[in-house]
Amino acid sequence: AICDAPPLPVLGRDVTVPLVTGGEVSYAALDYAASAPALQRVWDDVAAYAPYYGSVHRGAGYLSQLSTELFEQSRATVADFLGCRPADQVIFTRSTTDSLNLLAAVLPAGTQIFVFETEHHAALLPWQRAKGARVTCLAAPRTPEQAVAALDVALHAAPKGPKLVCVTGASNVTGEVWPVRRLAAAAHRHGARIVLDAAQLAPHRKVDVAELDVDWVAFSGHKLYAPFGAGVLAGRPDWLRDAEPYLAGGGATRTVVRRADGQVEAEWQESPAARHEAGSPNVIGAYAVASACKALTEAGFDRLAEHERQLLDLLRDGLAGIPEVRVLSLFGDGADRVGVLSFVVQGWNSSHLAAALSAEHGIGVRDGLFCAHPLVRHLLGGEPEDPGACGSPENLSFNAVRVSFGVGTPHEHVRRFTGALAKLVR
Ligand code: PMP
Repeated sequence: AICDAPPLPVLGRDVTVPLVTGGEVSYAALDYAASAPALQRVWDDVAAYAPYYGSVHRGAGYLSQLSTELFEQSRATVADFLGCRPADQVIFTRSTTDSLNLLAAVLPAGTQIFVFETEHHAALLPWQRAKGARVTCLAAPRTPEQAVAALDVALHAAPKGPKLVCVTGASNVTGEVWPVRRLAAAAHRHGARIVLDAAQLAPHRKVDVAELDVDWVAFSGHKLYAPFGAGVLAGRPDWLRDAEPYLAGGGATRTVVRRADGQVEAEWQESPAARHEAGSPNVIGAYAVASACKALTEAGFDRLAEHERQLLDLLRDGLAGIPEVRVLSLFGDGADRVGVLSFVVQGWNSSHLAAALSAEHGIGVRDGLFCAHPLVRHLLGGEPEDPGACGSPENLSFNAVRVSFGVGTPHEHVRRFTGALAKLVR
């Protein structure tokens, strides 16, 4: 039986927004891939903890001890959520961008990095800055099998030395799911390591680090139904332990001395979390991420995926009735996709469409290049006049509309969206 009720309550269900045509309408948030609304449960958990939070790690007071305990428990909850192996480390960061920059900062000298051009900029760009690193950017594949084969060939041809593959779990543009397990097997066959950008996968599907056999995984709290400001990098300890701290400062040090020659010398912490989490950590953020992890696990990813499948079916049926719509896809019909879909409408400017959906129908989607310029360029087939910044006005003639949803989305939002789009296009 089709059940219209979303599986988990989120904030903002009662928010109404003004329409240019007059009156108000309840807001349909269909931009979960950028930032999802927080779960009501996360908000309640944070509110219950808020009166008790205090400084962590070095505070002697009762609330400091409690906060330290909750912070470290949050780390353990995230490790459970990700199916980490016993030696894996969970490091709290600000976001996926921060996590991948952290990993780029700890690469062994001369690491060769392999990425596809289809990545989000956060997974495409940090590697260029790593000292002595060489980046190979592979062309967009047409099928998951081609992705695995292309990686296999590239790694086979690579000279000896440390290698890292960075791959997305689900595209933030097409929503298509990548063959992570097979890519990890290819990486390991050639002695390379692999980091999974799970920013879009983790909110929708069970990510199991051990089962996927990836070396690291990164995700963002604000896409996983927790508020902004906290992200995660989890995985193997060795590269993290061997490198200089990502940030230098308090907490990352064992001892600091002023030498007789007037220099300052620091001995760093060995534990990767302490070493790379200098400064006062975002305890509330970590607690919120852990609360979201628990809520998603308790709801069950099978149930969440079923809800999303129904929404995707509604979306596809609705779009199929508008022949001017072209859905952007790498892997073609039948590709496995999470609740993220981008499209263009023949004869229409994507930014104008997105603006009209908001102003006339109270629907929040996104337009632009989605911080994945090479991918969108590939999918649209051509060159923008000025790539500009993500979604900037200069891109008006070369961008797409993205609609995305998740655990808090009622069927009505998707129906309203396809109905509004059909009305606008007619
Ligand atoms: N990777 C992917 C696939 C993403 O969709 C995003 C966010 N759009 C990021 C990385 C970066 O996440 P954040 O902005 O939270 O750092």
